[in-house]
Amino acid sequence: MSLLDRFRRTSNVADPLVTALQHALAPDRVRNDGAERSLASHDASVFEGGVSGPVCFPTSTDEVQRITRIAVEHDRGIVPRGAGTGLAGGAIPLGAPIVVSTGKMNRILEVDIENRVAWVQPGVINLDLSRHLRPRGFHFAPDPSSQQVCTLGGNIANNSGGPHCLAYGVTDAHVLAIEVVLPNGDVVLLGGLDPEPGGYDLRGAFVGSEGTLGIATRIAVRLTKNPPAVRTLLLSFAETRDAAQTVSAIIAAGIVPAALEVMDQRMTVAVENYVAAGYPTDAAAVLLAEVEGLPAGVEIEADRIAEIGRANNATGVRQAASDEERALLWKGRKTAFGAVAQVAPDYYLHDTVVPRAALADMLEKIYEICERHDVIVMNVFHAGDGNLHPLLVFDARVEGTLERVHAAGAEIVRASLDAGGVLSGEHGIGVEKQGYMDELFSDADLDHQNRLRQAFDPTCRANPGKVLPMGHSCADIQALRAVPTGVWG
Ligand SMILES: Cc1cc2nc3c(=O)[nH]c(=O)nc-3n(C[C@H](O)[C@H](O)[C@H](O)COP(=O)(O)OP(=O)(O)OC[C@H]3O[C@@H](n4cnc5c(N)ncnc54)[C@H](O)[C@@H]3O)c2cc1C
Repeated sequence: MSLLDRFRRTSNVADPLVTALQHALAPDRVRNDGAERSLASHDASVFEGGVSGPVCFPTSTDEVQRITRIAVEHDRGIVPRGAGTGLAGGAIPLGAPIVVSTGKMNRILEVDIENRVAWVQPGVINLDLSRHLRPRGFHFAPDPSSQQVCTLGGNIANNSGGPHCLAYGVTDAHVLAIEVVLPNGDVVLLGGLDPEPGGYDLRGAFVGSEGTLGIATRIAVRLTKNPPAVRTLLLSFAETRDAAQTVSAIIAAGIVPAALEVMDQRMTVAVENYVAAGYPTDAAAVLLAEVEGLPAGVEIEADRIAEIGRANNATGVRQAASDEERALLWKGRKTAFGAVAQVAPDYYLHDTVVPRAALADMLEKIYEICERHDVIVMNVFHAGDGNLHPLLVFDARVEGTLERVHAAGAEIVRASLDAGGVLSGEHGIGVEKQGYMDELFSDADLDHQNRLRQAFDPTCRANPGKVLPMGHSCADIQALRAVPTGVWG
């Protein structure tokens, strides 16, 4: 029997947990039907195996607190969920926990321009916040490519990045305070608006914790002033290695552009067919570089970047002549993942980081690995901080393909670690990279990470089965709540 059939069979089972949740919220904001639970059992990753319990749609901190207390009473796990765009399986519920969807907690509560702070609910969509701030001359700097749909709660949980985080820093640098409903139902405020809030930086511990320390219910974010001038350049190269070396040379010259993004030829061809962004399709790679600041400064930096590119064999250097041209260049970059659907129906987007100096070698290694496993790979990545995003493109209906994709992916991850890199630049660990954690961290490291987690969540209630590898408490499948009768059919 398929998972969906099991859900269908069981959707009308009277469940005291569901009844309690419906009393605490409103009946129409607690969904236990097969369709809703099936949706909540997946995210944008390739990982299957999620089984959701009831899906709740709270509107306030108070309601999240009530849901959590009910989870404690019924001894169930609890998984926060934003837009479900995560690529590491972080929002996939394991062991039929209560899923807390923040989709209705989507209000921008307060904008304080004088102090450059906004208070938001966690379900606010990243781009909606920047659109809201634009008329007042500000924006929220982290700009994941998924920013049209992903939420601030998800951004914080994954410490997300984006093309413009090279100069401004990833999400952590833009979060001042977080109100959290802890796994026991208590509400705490981590961090604060003072420049140096007292005590340990528990705000910092929460950012990037992937839903394992509690649920963010209100967030104070830092506002970034829109730059007075911007220059965007597109450099093309006959060799991918030259594009990677240009990136290193720009940083070595002391320039920190707002963005440095590289795309290989397969990707630019797909993007051109998709949105006609104006990329040269005969180049082995293109580098999109953007500098921001005062007009005189950006002119100098743009000229310098062009010079460095030419010195590293750029075959073409073009500066966007208008806002429209600049927007089109960025549209190409931001829709790159969508463009891949022309090549094959499925993709697995990897996320590892290597030292910038190792980028060129690592790219060659990635092509070699994928060729050996007979998998198509396309590359588009945040080159400025060494954050690689090899996209393995495939058709999962073809027998044996997924196995080859996973084998190639595993080699890429291990090659990145061998090159002195780390497991994730921005997508997180979730279930995807759990099995590699003990290749990067020692037992002592993992033990300390586990102890931090247990300080927030001694009973492993929050997003059980994630991040820490097997053998480290909350990851043990035995530690997941027993699945109540009726859920499995
Ligand atoms: C096409 C595409 C492009 C992408 N580009 C980028 C990119 O450029 N940069 C980047 O960093 N990522 C990128 N991502 C990954 C993803 O969009 C980000 O990780 C994003 O921040 C996830 O937000 P979400 O609202 O979808 O969270 P979800 O996927 O719903 O959840 C992600 C994690 O956050 C936890 N969580 C959600 N809400 C809360 C909360 N309120 N409190 C505590 N924990 C919570 C969940 O439990 C889960 O562990 C991309 C994804 C796609 C599909």
